[in-house]
Amino acid sequence: MREHSGDEFVRRARDEGLRSRAAYKLMEIDQRDHLLVPGMTVIDLGAAPGAWAVYARDRLGPRGRVIALDLLALEAIPGVEVIQGDFTEDAVFQDLLDRLGGQPVDLVLSDMAPNISGIAAVDQARSIGLAELALDLALRTLRPGGKLLVKVFQGEGYPEYLRLLKGRFDRVVTRKPKASRGRSREIYLLALGFQPE
Ligand code: SAM
Repeated sequence: MREHSGDEFVRRARDEGLRSRAAYKLMEIDQRDHLLVPGMTVIDLGAAPGAWAVYARDRLGPRGRVIALDLLALEAIPGVEVIQGDFTEDAVFQDLLDRLGGQPVDLVLSDMAPNISGIAAVDQARSIGLAELALDLALRTLRPGGKLLVKVFQGEGYPEYLRLLKGRFDRVVTRKPKASRGRSREIYLLALGFQPE
C-alpha cells in the first residue's frame, strides 16, 4: 500500500482526475507507436476501473467505437459500451462477438491480469491463459493489418506465446512503459499487421 500511494503515477492520476495510473501505460505506448486513430473500433479487455477506455474514447472521437469488458462493474463511461463478465466464460466471449455483429476490429487491447495468488507458477499460467484468450479474440475479429496490445507476465509459456503472435502478425515488439513498476514481471506485447490465414 505504501508503495502504491507514494507512487508518482498514482499521485498524477489522482491530480489529473484519471480513473487509474494504468492510463499512463497506454498513453506512453500510444504516443510512441501511434496506436489509436480517430474512427477506429477498439476492444478493451480487463477494462476496470476504466482509464484505458476513457483515454481510447477521447482519442477515437465521435466516429470511434470502444467496447470495454471486465469481471468487475465499471462506472458508466459515456460513449463506451460496457460488458461485465468473466472473459474465460464462453457465454461472455460470445456476447462480445454478438455485440460486434461481424464488424471488423482495428485494435484489441488486453490489460487483463489474474488475481495474484502469490503462487508464482499459478499466476504465470493464468496470465498466459488470459493472453491466449485475448489472442483468440483478436484472430477472430481483427481486420487484416489490425493490432493487438496485450499484457503478459514473463516466465513459463512466454516464449511460446511470443512465437504464436509472430506467426500471425507482421511484427511484434515489447513495451515496458515507465508506469509499469520496474520489478513487476508484466510486459506489453504489441503485435502489428495482423495476417488472416
Ligand atoms: N486497463 C485498466 C484501466 O485502465 O483502468 C486496468 C486493468 S486492471 C490492471 C486488470 C483488470 O483485469 C481487472 O479489472 C480485472 O478485473 C480484469 N480481469 C482479470 N481477469 C479477467 C477475466 N477473466 N475477465 C474479465 N476481466 C478480467
